[in-house]
Amino acid sequence: MTAYPSLHMIIGGEKVSGGGRRTFDVVNPATGETIGALPLAEAADLDKALEVAAEGFRIWRKSTPQQRAAVLQGAARLMLERQEELARIATMEEGKPLAESRIEVLMNVGLFNFYAGEAQRLYGRELVRPTGQRSVIRHEPVGVVAAFSPWNFPIGNPGRKLGAPIAAGCAVIMKSAEETPASALGVLQCLLDAGLPPQVAQAVFGVPDEVSRHLLASPVVSKLSFTGSTVVGKQLMKLAADNMLRTTMELGGHGPVLVFDDVDVDRVLDTAVPGKFRNAGQVCVSPTRFIVQENVFEKFRDGFVERAKAVQVGDGLAEGTQMGPMANPRRPDAMERLIGGAKDAGATLHTGGERIGNQGFFYAPSVLSEIPLDAEIMNEEPFGPVALINPFKGEDEMIAETNRLPYGLAAYAWTDDVQRQRRLADEIESGMVGINSHMIGGADSPFGGVKWSGHGAEDGPEGVLACMVTKAVHEG
Ligand code: NAD
Repeated sequence: MTAYPSLHMIIGGEKVSGGGRRTFDVVNPATGETIGALPLAEAADLDKALEVAAEGFRIWRKSTPQQRAAVLQGAARLMLERQEELARIATMEEGKPLAESRIEVLMNVGLFNFYAGEAQRLYGRELVRPTGQRSVIRHEPVGVVAAFSPWNFPIGNPGRKLGAPIAAGCAVIMKSAEETPASALGVLQCLLDAGLPPQVAQAVFGVPDEVSRHLLASPVVSKLSFTGSTVVGKQLMKLAADNMLRTTMELGGHGPVLVFDDVDVDRVLDTAVPGKFRNAGQVCVSPTRFIVQENVFEKFRDGFVERAKAVQVGDGLAEGTQMGPMANPRRPDAMERLIGGAKDAGATLHTGGERIGNQGFFYAPSVLSEIPLDAEIMNEEPFGPVALINPFKGEDEMIAETNRLPYGLAAYAWTDDVQRQRRLADEIESGMVGINSHMIGGADSPFGGVKWSGHGAEDGPEGVLACMVTKAVHEG
């Protein structure tokens, strides 16, 4: 039985806590009970983290590709050894079923191993010039990265925030979500135990607005990497502009799913329903707006409702749980508001639409249909266990609905018509498109959005290049 660990920050390899610092109560979302007290950074802690990170960058930018690869591979091995402990802690903090937490650890293992390879493939190029002249294009690490990550992937998000800068030769100050600190600390500890110089990566926690204002105002920081809501992302980009920081912004979405009448509806439901209720819908690439061709609308909707009713909801640590609680009390509150608003606007609620039990933050798997397009839930990311299913006539109308919103993170389309598949890949405004698949990621594939879903990518070679700047050196 894994006990929830005591909490601290990590600055220069030192565990920092106590000392009269303010604390934040970490809560188990399945029980509502407080399980830990997280120390929050004071200004002096952030200054110390900046000073150490500046030193970390001076050290790590000179590391060899092999040193970077050895640290990342070593950390991947340790994460695998510690998989069960890390997964249990993530479930205690965030609520997701243990099986999902275990997969998150494995995703990090794959990502760190991929980045270990990328660290050794950071090539530049030499241009053709007259004899006696030389022009070389080099990629250099950008510097100190301020990386802010959210609570929904307590292991995976910190893995992304740490892995790419370390592969690129940068230093990092990570502020992961205060709701899920122990998972982030566990990931960083694997890197430190694998030989990462302690100056290279720091983990701080605090009042988010205080921390981001302090760090982004410092000349030590060269890049902001943020995952979270579009609203907060826009605020942070404004702060980043003052110091002309580079940014990678991984923001919200509203996952459109186009279902055409030439597909086997059950085949779509087999992946769409588990995809929808994964992590109780608190996933930026969650399938959300189901745009269904009218001939198969009723069959699709009824099949969805039947399967949603069968989802086993419970404590993520319990055997057989398919969906855990929502991660914090803000989420069921948001569900009540958004689903209530949709019903008031004339939508039909087929199942769910209510909290479950009187402890923790459980909310029932929910299905709405025939939702007016101006209802708030059709325009704001619901980030919860609700499927929105509407009928549409044909391809043009379905594509128009897909591109209606300012978001463009992940989109999914189901059709067996090969020509239409190509048209959809061309027409859909989204950073990632799944055709007959809900799998849209992988360690080797860029993960990121367009429009209000942000810019830049994590994962893939693009994730490492996003932590680098180019320099052109021309010799006469
Ligand atoms: P939020 O927008 O306040 O916070 C989102 C994340 O950003 C949290 O981890 C938070 O700690 C962090 N944050 C907030 N203000 C910050 C600041 N000034 N500086 C640095 N970090 C800051 O709201 P929330 O209630 O945690 O989540 C609500 C919404 O956020 C969701 O509805 C969803 O749209 C979005 N969200 C997106 C992702 C994602 O993967 N893209 C993850 C979590 C939440």
